Amino acid sequence: MNSTADKKGLILVFTGPGKGKTTAALGILFRALGRGMKCGVVQFLKGKWETGERKFAKTIAELDFHVMGLGFTWESDDIDKDKKAARLAWKKSCDMIFSENYKILILDEITYAFHYGWLTPEEVLEVLSKKPKDLHIVLTGRNCPNLITDLADLVTNVESPKHPYKNGIPAQLGIDY
Ligand code: ATP
Ligand code: MG
Repeated sequence: MNSTADKKGLILVFTGPGKGKTTAALGILFRALGRGMKCGVVQFLKGKWETGERKFAKTIAELDFHVMGLGFTWESDDIDKDKKAARLAWKKSCDMIFSENYKILILDEITYAFHYGWLTPEEVLEVLSKKPKDLHIVLTGRNCPNLITDLADLVTNVESPKHPYKNGIPAQLGIDY
């Protein structure tokens, strides 16, 4: 179905204000792992809750899942530490990108680091444009800069016409974390 000539490593971006960016990226992982493809995830942001995906990832040999970020900035008492965590997450991402060990890499919430100026879209663009030819890279997070979406092969902008939080319904186990 997919001859060698058809193979192309894509750059995919899930952005926008709605829910579903990280879960869309995880959906791709599920599909790729079913194909026996080695996958990697770097999470640039660690929320205050343990997530189902982190727990599940520990049970899958073909998946390297790294939670590199700290909490949300508004929970932080040391912004310098947040910046260091973001830089470390980017270093880890670059090592994984050029390791030739992976078929798919997910850089989850990477745009959060752009927002705070811890990482520049220019440096990410430079690495993305030199990535191994067959490697697929998925980037998630709100407000993805044009510099990156211009280079991407796929951009999905998730809208938010409705969200349970707006009706006071809190995050649900298995749906949100
Ligand atoms: P998910 O991880 O569920 O796919 P996401 O990656 O699209 O969500 P993020 O911006 O990473 O969204 O935010 C993560 C958390 O914020 C999730 O628990 C999600 O339910 C919540 N969230 C996402 N979009 C909205 C929204 N429009 N209004 C309120 N809460 C939201
Ligand atoms: Mg997300």
